[in-house]
Amino acid sequence: MGQPLSRRVVVFALGGTIAMTSDNQAGVVPTLSASDLVAAVPGLADTGADITVHDFRQLPGASLTFDDLIALNAAASHAIDAGADGIVVTQGTDTIEETAFALDLLWPSDAPLVVTGAMRNPKLAGADGPANLLAAIRVAAAAETRGMGCLVVLNDEIHAARWVRKTHTTSPAAFRSPDTGPVGLVAEHRPRVLTRPIRHTLTLQPQPAADVCTAVVPVVLGDNGAVLRQAGNVVDGLVVAGFGVGHVPVATVEILTDLAAVKPVVLASRIGAGPVLTSTYGFPGSESDLLGRGLISAGSLDPFKARGLLHLLLAAGHGRDEIAKAFATIGCADPPTNERE
Ligand code: ASP
Repeated sequence: MGQPLSRRVVVFALGGTIAMTSDNQAGVVPTLSASDLVAAVPGLADTGADITVHDFRQLPGASLTFDDLIALNAAASHAIDAGADGIVVTQGTDTIEETAFALDLLWPSDAPLVVTGAMRNPKLAGADGPANLLAAIRVAAAAETRGMGCLVVLNDEIHAARWVRKTHTTSPAAFRSPDTGPVGLVAEHRPRVLTRPIRHTLTLQPQPAADVCTAVVPVVLGDNGAVLRQAGNVVDGLVVAGFGVGHVPVATVEILTDLAAVKPVVLASRIGAGPVLTSTYGFPGSESDLLGRGLISAGSLDPFKARGLLHLLLAAGHGRDEIAKAFATIGCADPPTNERE
């Protein structure tokens, strides 16, 4: 049964497959309330956790926005100030790798903030929602997970928001951290922390982010830069997802150079694991060429996490130099330290 926890956990439900059902032949849609989700978890009473619930949004993960996250960050912070020990967020898995990283950047507390969801909806055999929610509540209630920022818990694994990716469209084991592996796991009813992530929070005041326009544009084989040019005209800042260690076709180099002169352009890799390099290759369109032309390295951030950081910085009114500094630290383009930023 595990140790009784006697800890206060607040569950914020945002929708997603974990909350999706259907009364007819049509596909499932977000329907279940936070109370429904908690009521479906066998063994929850045995944890001893004191759970309160909030129906915060009822959306597919794809329709969540930065402004939802800024509002969630404020509501969850308020719950901690009012005495909660930890927070659980249930949401669609489609955007967890982006939402959890944004929350990790914004979260001002040492209390655990744990995001979970489900790959199989409640109508399917082997639905994973109840097990994921139970594991997430155990992680949010644990003293050991304090100071670890935003964590993503599915399939009995604990991942740092900073590193986690959704790597499969349907598998219950979809969430992985290719660069680091999980930071812990849940076994015999309790979280076991294996390693602690370096945390970098943003000191900026979160601002409504809806007016800011950012995008990820991947380069592709034979790319002539037409899409990059069009995107560059409409965005406030751009993440270009380059090949390999940060390479682009030579036909796109001048377009990126012109763009980087007037707005922040971040260079990430399409690969999804491993860093953008700085000084290994020297051809036109190589990583060293592009960084010399004013592009900002995403470091070890994948294109989607890089875009989240860029978006929040732009929404807070930061200019290119501050953005470059933030990427140098948070993207680990500079050597990591244990200091909170
Ligand atoms: N397939 C998604 C999920 O796992 C749907 C969504 O993100 O809302 O929740």
